[in-house]
Amino acid sequence: MLLFAIRTLSLAKGRRSDAGRLASLQDARLRSLVRRAVQGSPFYREKYRGIDPGRFRLEDLPPTGKGELMASFDRTLTDPAVTRAGLERFMDDPENSARLFLGRYVASHTSGSQGQPMLTVQDRRSVERFFGLQMTRGNTDRVSTAMAVRRLVRPKRLAVVTLKRGFYPSASLFQHMPAVARRFMNVLWLSQTDPDLLPRIEAFRPDALTAYAGVLEMLALEVEAGRLRPGPELRQVVNNSEVLTDRARDRIARAFGVRVMNNYATGECPFLTNGCPTDPGAHVNADSAILEVVDANYRPVPPGTPGEKVLITNLVNHLQPIIRYEVGDVVTMAEGPCGCGSLLPRVERIGGRAADVFWVGEGARRRRLINLVFTHALEYVTEAREWQAEQTGRNEVRVRLEPLPGSVVDLARARHAIDRELASYDYDDVNVTLEVVPRLEADPRTGKYRRMVGAMGPDDPPAPYGRAALFGGAGASSVVRRG
Ligand SMILES: [Zn+2]
Repeated sequence: MLLFAIRTLSLAKGRRSDAGRLASLQDARLRSLVRRAVQGSPFYREKYRGIDPGRFRLEDLPPTGKGELMASFDRTLTDPAVTRAGLERFMDDPENSARLFLGRYVASHTSGSQGQPMLTVQDRRSVERFFGLQMTRGNTDRVSTAMAVRRLVRPKRLAVVTLKRGFYPSASLFQHMPAVARRFMNVLWLSQTDPDLLPRIEAFRPDALTAYAGVLEMLALEVEAGRLRPGPELRQVVNNSEVLTDRARDRIARAFGVRVMNNYATGECPFLTNGCPTDPGAHVNADSAILEVVDANYRPVPPGTPGEKVLITNLVNHLQPIIRYEVGDVVTMAEGPCGCGSLLPRVERIGGRAADVFWVGEGARRRRLINLVFTHALEYVTEAREWQAEQTGRNEVRVRLEPLPGSVVDLARARHAIDRELASYDYDDVNVTLEVVPRLEADPRTGKYRRMVGAMGPDDPPAPYGRAALFGGAGASSVVRRG
């Protein structure tokens, strides 16, 4: 425990590291990661042929994509005991989400918000780093030894509101929070479908509340309506892994009367950033990850200018090397120093991905159907390269699936997964039809691919909060879930 505490306190200091120290730390960790990847993974050994692991620049390493990592999955890992078939079998049983894969690794899959889901595995070091960073940099409190001792007496109370348990990265990590971190942090895990969600939050008296932006906005509406009264202990609200619009951020901050921190992360690198306590966006944990904002040709884009995509390097996870991994997020880095005093680079703005919702249900049951419901269902349909949902009537949705080359989509399995998701969130009144199509194309007008098309507006006032109206709410922000 002492070791964890010392390491965690040193992470807190890391945000004050000067650029030179940070760069040399980052460089040393990158070299050690690349050495491990080349030694342990046949995929990287081939990919980096001709590159001297002792002497290279970051930009010498060719970017990697999800497609190639998934196609050669077993050869990309440094532990040959981890196989794609083994992981898929393991994740087929929802009961396994409380277990470690092979007794030692946290398994998850990304939401597939960018098409095919990515399977991820984290070793113990990565899990500890995630919690260490959450507890230090993802925190408006000043972290000090005195604070750590106080936390032992009264652990921080963190309420996490999420869809449900499962194999998506944030859920998997919180289910496998190291025992030592539990000494400092008391986590209440709440499902947003819990009918007693509001009283349970109130009874817990959290210091911090973490949820996806859409859920935070829902809860903000409940606070405004006087149906949720968080205690005076509440110090911060954290949006995890969803695009947070300015409007949503203002509304949430106003309702709760506390700061809204905005984390930006992916399943492949869950500790990529932690929200800035004073300024918009999030600071990159540059000692644990590298975030490159690039244009379409992988050339660096300067701060203040939105990139076309990002390249992410996870410096901690040596089990599943993620090096210059391409993600289609439109990210703008902040210019100049940050008001919070952190010297870590700050992501100013995250956005640009399609983020649509369907309004479904009649009368008092009018509510939002977010893309997550399909995303979660379709992550089990690994033969599909891409999907698209079209709202064809108030309660009618047509889902099109494009198979991966050479694959056949198992429609019965897809049907089962979708029905299960719809039922678990009380969308039984929504009728979904499934269709396999040879190819799904980007919108010819914008050139952008959209997963939710033909959305109908709410038309009439939203339903009051309740199990049937979980995603309802006036002015709710659009939602994209990452990781
Ligand atoms: Zn800052």
